Amino acid sequence: MKSFDTLLYEQPAPQVARIVLNRPETRNAQDTKMLYELNDAFNVAARDDAIKVIILAANGPHFSSGHDLREPHPYQNMLQYETVGTWCGFTCAGAEAQMAREKEIYLGFCERWRNIPKPTIAAVQGKCIAGGLMLIWPCDIIIASDDAQFADPTVSFGVDGVEFFAHPWEMGVRKAKEFLFTSDWISAQEAYRLGMVNQVVPREHLQEAALAMAQKIAKKSLFALKLTKEAVNAAQDVQGRVAAMQTSFSLHQLAHTHNLKVYGMLIDPTGLPPETAKALGARIESKQD
Ligand code: ZN
Repeated sequence: MKSFDTLLYEQPAPQVARIVLNRPETRNAQDTKMLYELNDAFNVAARDDAIKVIILAANGPHFSSGHDLREPHPYQNMLQYETVGTWCGFTCAGAEAQMAREKEIYLGFCERWRNIPKPTIAAVQGKCIAGGLMLIWPCDIIIASDDAQFADPTVSFGVDGVEFFAHPWEMGVRKAKEFLFTSDWISAQEAYRLGMVNQVVPREHLQEAALAMAQKIAKKSLFALKLTKEAVNAAQDVQGRVAAMQTSFSLHQLAHTHNLKVYGMLIDPTGLPPETAKALGARIESKQD
């Protein structure tokens, strides 16, 4: 079985694959390597005809703290991998590299994972922040532990929401605006009430509940499951999801380009503690220029 540095790939039951994020020391912060490994792991499960259902889980107290903003040389690191898209240009100047990277490993991967023609189940515990949402939202079913909390604080950092802009579809338009405008947390119970998660279970039963759901689904015909997933996804897509996400992705790139011009980095660091902003290489004095 294929092994990974940042993930575990398991088969906890017949016909069920489980991919486990395994960088708990970083709260499963997603760097380039982890995202390419995750894409590889999804490929392994998707291409194995003996697998019917894929679980995405995470080791440690928290599901994911989001994208790893401290990764050294993120653009050069892209060159180590065979890309899934053809946009490329990861070391180009200006906004080109940033857009290329985000189109490949953020929007591109999320869209690809969302369309894997097998049921996927996210099992989420603890904090799931910003880019963390981009791992669970592409899944078909989300099971949360009762201590799970969700936030997209990107507006606090001068960006208009994460790259896979599923908020209006996940929680409804009005709540999505509040979630983004305030950067407030929502609890597992609130996420359940909004329809963003399917079940809330005690933390100690999270993996058991995800596996039970996977095994129940795995009893069905894989072809029927594939067709059903296509049908439900199509219902969402004919409502304009893809076009809306392309619009929000373009606005997201405008926000990054603005921040790069003003602060020398992709986010507005004025909301960060000064030492963190400095460590990330912020050019805060530019705000007064
Ligand atoms: Zn971005």
